[in-house]
Amino acid sequence: TDIILHRVLPVAKRLISERVQPGEMVVDATAGNGNDTLFLAELVGDSGKVFAFDIQQQALDTTRQHLGDLAGRTSLVLDSHENVRQYVSGEIGGAMFNLGYLPYSEDQSIITKPSSTIAALDALLGLLKKTGIITITVYDGHEGGSEERDALLEYVKTLHQGDVHAIRYELLNQRRNPPFLIALEKMKDFKEVRNV
Ligand code: SAM
Repeated sequence: TDIILHRVLPVAKRLISERVQPGEMVVDATAGNGNDTLFLAELVGDSGKVFAFDIQQQALDTTRQHLGDLAGRTSLVLDSHENVRQYVSGEIGGAMFNLGYLPYSEDQSIITKPSSTIAALDALLGLLKKTGIITITVYDGHEGGSEERDALLEYVKTLHQGDVHAIRYELLNQRRNPPFLIALEKMKDFKEVRNV
């Protein structure tokens, strides 16, 4: 079938794949079970590098298994994404976030938090190449989700329109709290975000 109004995750992947070039460095800010890490590893090729962050060792273990032979082009970092600048220097081609809790884990109270998510976005926007894309898949159905959603939408509105274009994409008629997508495109070179 010839769909163009895809669900959120395929749209996020399409935006990223239209900008990331083989050989680039990219960031998976929330490795989880490693689905996006694998997607990014395939995209950057064997001369590229994916930095994948998670605060749960369990997530990184699953991600490593999921990557198989492609693990060599990734660096799996057990730390919060807000510390990305301690691990990544130099320009990145793109970054992906998938917020909320780790699916299938015992402890679903471990969730992404507004302050660290926003600090990570600030740092990643600084590292991002001009024309680069950051995608953020936002879930607001779980406890703490609506606070993170609101903080994120507030933050995005403070980004200067000449520096970053920000969009929101969502399917309006899906049951059971579907995620929505925020995507950011860097419009010009800067190392530090200026907030308006
Ligand atoms: N994209 C993943 C996949 O393909 O399975 C799913 C990601 S899951 C929805 C969110 C992940 O973010 C969880 O594994 C959680 O441990 C992680 N996380 C929460 N806070 C974090 C932080 N401050 N820095 C990095 N990862 C974090």
